[in-house]
Amino acid sequence: MPRPILATIHPAAVHHNLERARRAAPDARVWAVVKANAYGHGIERVFEGLRAADGFALLDLAEAERVRALGWRGPVLLLEGVFEPRDLELCSRLGLWHAVHCDAQIDWLAAHKTQVPHRVFLKMNSGMNRLGFTPERYRSAWARLNALPQVDEISCMTHFSDADGPRGIAHQVQAFQTATQDLPGERCIANSAALLRHGGDAQVRLDWVRAGIVLYGSAPDHPERRAADWDLQPTMTLASRIIGVQQLQAGDTVGYGSRFTAQGPLGIGIVACGYADGYPRHCDTGTPVLVNGVRTRTIGRVSMDMLAVDLTPVPGAGLGAEVTLWGRAANGAVLPIDEVAQAGGTIGYELMCALAPRVPVVVQ
Ligand code: PLP
Repeated sequence: MPRPILATIHPAAVHHNLERARRAAPDARVWAVVKANAYGHGIERVFEGLRAADGFALLDLAEAERVRALGWRGPVLLLEGVFEPRDLELCSRLGLWHAVHCDAQIDWLAAHKTQVPHRVFLKMNSGMNRLGFTPERYRSAWARLNALPQVDEISCMTHFSDADGPRGIAHQVQAFQTATQDLPGERCIANSAALLRHGGDAQVRLDWVRAGIVLYGSAPDHPERRAADWDLQPTMTLASRIIGVQQLQAGDTVGYGSRFTAQGPLGIGIVACGYADGYPRHCDTGTPVLVNGVRTRTIGRVSMDMLAVDLTPVPGAGLGAEVTLWGRAANGAVLPIDEVAQAGGTIGYELMCALAPRVPVVVQ
């Protein structure tokens, strides 16, 4: 018998979430962001759910090749552009669009011998201070690109630092608009949080939106809003089973560091899932978990291969009982990944991306 841990990817839910993203930004085309192997889901596993997207936005040539190998002939965008000059050759061959965020990338294009003109998204640093030209330098970068015979079409993009937070996006929208106002070409600024919260605003949705986490059923602004509030469905379930049961008495402790002490008699289940499976080690006592589809909590510290759960709300549960670490249980109950992430001091994005290679994955 294999160890009873399993991740299930739900392409129909991905499709539902894509449609949800579309409804939030009527008239805009949708880049399905599939970087980091589709946020840990596997590009090939979610592809069917994303066929209705207008393009795929991703990180590198290897991911772009995988999308092309799936038969996708439409737009593919390298979100950070190329990492070295020789990448431009494959970029041409695969017909990729690519971001340009620094002078070196313009130099590489200028030196590139190509028959196929490039379509680029010139990236503005409007406040994130990660990649891109400042608003002051943006127009000169645009003019340099525009003078290159290697460049066919220039679109404009920027990325928000706080679309899900208190600072908001207005200052970045303003900086972007001011610097790009009379430039030709398409525009793309919204990520999931901006799209869900401001997609109704034509100044935000523009020509394209970049939908990432929304496709994977996580609320970008959790806990202010929950996935269900946005009508998002979970796209990844991590499930396991109880492989041991212990009856504790008052004063007994659980796990490494003895961080949990029973106050009275308590039945606990030991689950075949630990931090080496991608479950966050910081999800100490109190993290929500479903046993047989009933909500309970973790107990004590998460180990490498195991964790413990309180069986009080599910007295009949014993060896072999179904445990849902996040996602959807057999009885239809849902445990949002965002709640688990919050308990572990992180975000749903990280949990999805950190699913360990040793966890078997099925598509359903
Ligand atoms: N655009 C860029 C440039 C990104 O780096 C990301 C993700 O980090 C996204 C879009 C998608 O963001 P989200 O998953 O929050 O929608």
